[in-house]
Amino acid sequence: MKYEEMKPGQINAVLRECPIAYLPWGAHEWHGVHNPIGLDALKAHYMALELCRETGGVVLPPVYCGYQTMKPWAGFRHTLEFSRELVRQLLYEYLENLYDEGFKVIVLIMGHYGNKHVEALKEAVERFTEKHRYPKVLAITDYEPASWVGVEGGDHAGKNETSLMLHFRPDLVDLSRLPARELDFARDGCTVNAKEATAERGAMLARLFVEQAAPKVRALLAEALAQWPREVASGD
Ligand SMILES: [Zn+2]
Repeated sequence: MKYEEMKPGQINAVLRECPIAYLPWGAHEWHGVHNPIGLDALKAHYMALELCRETGGVVLPPVYCGYQTMKPWAGFRHTLEFSRELVRQLLYEYLENLYDEGFKVIVLIMGHYGNKHVEALKEAVERFTEKHRYPKVLAITDYEPASWVGVEGGDHAGKNETSLMLHFRPDLVDLSRLPARELDFARDGCTVNAKEATAERGAMLARLFVEQAAPKVRALLAEALAQWPREVASGD
């Protein structure tokens, strides 16, 4: 399932049987004193692996390339900020490569949520889909599927993101590092409800993500497979 660990023959089998590629996208970004710097990419990678276990396909290694991070916003350290142009171009080239490799559905899972960052990634998807009608590309933030059933997620290192880390990698979270006083977003660099995070909430968010996203991905694959031969024959 992990692309980087697969042999050519194993990838060929996936391309024949279930040509879905998951691409988790994150950043290196300050996520409070209690969370690891790679939270966005780690989280998106684990979520992609769980979804892939359900639908089949492969998961690419997470891309650490964030724009509109906590560094230009408020100078938070240990954060790597890349340009909008680079983020956009990098995703575009990933899409072209995955198309060239024969994937028929590509699912981008965005773990870093800066509005302009998400916009840059969506622009790359748009540029790609203008050029190719197939493969089908689904670009979602990791909190979007749960929101389809009214469950709000998507904070910054707060109750939701910290809960997901407590679920996937409790060894990387240390809530005791948070100050005893009330939290402040601008000072602490995390959504102020971070202390309410629990592994149980993380498990619930992760489960909803898979439950809601899996049918959508399966439907895209069915659509792509049904139309692919005709589209290819007619020149795409
Ligand atoms: Zn985050």
